[in-house]
This record gives sequence, C-alpha cells and structure tokens, in this order.
Amino acid sequence: MKGRSDEMQIVDAHSDYALKTFYDYLNGRKNSLIAHHLPELKKGGVNIEVLTVGGDFDLYPGVKNRDPLTVFQIIDTQLQEIARSQGECILIRKRSDFEVNTQLDTIGFMFAIEGAGMIGNDFSILRNYYRLGLRCVMLTHNENNLLADGCGVKNPQGLTEYGYKFIDEVDELGMVLDVSHISEPSFWDIINNYSDPIIASHSNVRNLCDNVRNLTDEQIKAIAEKKGIIGINFYGGFIDKDMNNVNLERLIDHIDYIRDLVGISYVGIGPDFLNYVEKDFSKEISKSTLSIGIEPEKVGHLEDLREVSSLPNLIKRLRARGYSRDDIRRFMGKNFIQVYKAIFNE
Ligand SMILES: [Zn+2]
Repeated sequence: MKGRSDEMQIVDAHSDYALKTFYDYLNGRKNSLIAHHLPELKKGGVNIEVLTVGGDFDLYPGVKNRDPLTVFQIIDTQLQEIARSQGECILIRKRSDFEVNTQLDTIGFMFAIEGAGMIGNDFSILRNYYRLGLRCVMLTHNENNLLADGCGVKNPQGLTEYGYKFIDEVDELGMVLDVSHISEPSFWDIINNYSDPIIASHSNVRNLCDNVRNLTDEQIKAIAEKKGIIGINFYGGFIDKDMNNVNLERLIDHIDYIRDLVGISYVGIGPDFLNYVEKDFSKEISKSTLSIGIEPEKVGHLEDLREVSSLPNLIKRLRARGYSRDDIRRFMGKNFIQVYKAIFNE
C-alpha cells in the first residue's frame, strides 16, 4: 500500500463543487463529481476537499440550496458519487478518516453548509445532517436569518437567542464552526461564548483589502487565540480593491500578513474557485457579490491560479518568496487537519 504520510497534504477548505454536481444531476449528468472534478482535484494535488452542500445564497438556477429537503438531496447525490468512485474517494467524518485517507491514497470529501437559514430553530435537521456527514457549519452567508446576521446586513445586531442555542448544539456535536461571511457583532458574540477553536474557511485580511468579507487584525488575533484557522480566499475582490493589483504576489501578501501577525499555524487555503461556475452563470455570482460592495466586472482574476489544478503554481511562488518546506506543508493542509481533528468529537 502506498502511503503519503511524509508528503504534503493539501486541504481545500471551501468549494461549491457539490452544488455544481447537483445542478448537473438535475440536468441529466449524473457523474460530474467523479468524472469532471475528481481529475482536476488530483491534478492540483488536493487530498481533502470541503464541499458546500447548502446555504443562504443563490448560485445555480434550479438548485434550491436554501431549502432543508434539497440539502438532503444534495448530500445524497454526493454520497452516491462517492460510492460509485470505486474507492477513489471517501467521506471524512471522524479523526481516523484523515489517516485512512492518507493510507489509501484517496481524496477525502467533507460536507459544509454556508449559512444555516434552512435549519432555523429546528435543530433535529442539524443533527440529521450531522448523521449524514455534515461537519462544518456557517451560521450565515451575507444576509441574516433566525440565528445571526451576515456581513452584508446594515445595522447588524449579533446572535439571536436561537443563535446562542445553535452554537451550543454545534459545540456538542463536535462540528466545525465557521465565521466567514458573518457580521462583526455576531463574530464577537461567538468569540465570547464559544470554547472550541473556530475557523474562517475563506476570508482574507481587511487591512490589505478593505471589504466586509475580510478580517480585521483583532478578528485574526481572536481566531488565533482560540487555536482556530483562517483559509485564504483566491477571489479577486477579496485580494485587492484595485483589479490591477490582483495577482499571486498580492495573494501571498495576505499569507505573509497573517503569519507575521499571529504565526504560520493559523493560516491555510479556502480558495473558493469559481472558474466552473463562471463559465455558466456569471450573472448569478454578480447578484450575491453586490450585497457586499463588489462590482463583479471590476474584479481582477488570478491568472495563474484560477482553478484547483493550478495549485502547484502557488507552492512554487511560496518557495520563491522564501517559505520553508515545513511552513508550506502547514499552510497547504497540515494546519487545517490539526484544527479539524481538535474539534471533532470522535
Ligand atoms: Zn462564501
């Protein structure tokens, strides 16, 4: 058996591939996770891929990912594809799965939701999602719901009574609480009332790119104090306000910044690659980004890092910028795996 324990483990902490897979499924293409995305993930050297299976936003026409029943259907579709993969991928549900994934040389998928509006105050839905493999939870996307307010809300108020109960339930289940997209008052309510590490799966540095989706220095320090982690987002609008400055070097400035502020242990990758969505539906992306002050046509792209298969370009540039092999290994995946294992109950 070929093991990879000494090699680099790459964890992509945020993606929408599952929504695309479900969209394809609805349109008669039943094998797109395995047939289309898996080869790309392999090319990029990815070992663990986090899949969003629902949330408070609209992306693919006909994919009602805000609806609790549809989320069950999206999960079912991914589980069917994993089962059909003939041992090429597994679902990550517990600590030992990380080792199994390495030993079997498979790609591990982990389920996440990006906004919990579909759960509301019926936590039995959350527990059932957990039983099916959901492990990462964001309370909100950009808007508000019964639990909290997102970063696109004017006059945010913080967690609601249900929001406090919800984070207790997430803690109890040993799920990963993700604060990307949440408003600042809700963020601080979580920091002050939650004991486990928290993550921001796909957020950058506010001081380098002033957008509500990015984190202030105080937020970065608070996440590090809780032994959590921040995944760097590759979307141009969160890298620099000036599209002419959106490039790989500027992206690495965000990594440098977090490393210098709190240390390399607290940073990883949450790229949110959208190349495959853009091909079909750039208009849908436009709608959701306008609420956070981004005009899509003014967003630059990382030309040499637009899709998951181009991740090796990032590793090359990190080496050129003087990152040690060990720091690159931590940043590309080891840090995220450590945080997930610390949070999981089993
Ligand atoms: Zn997002």
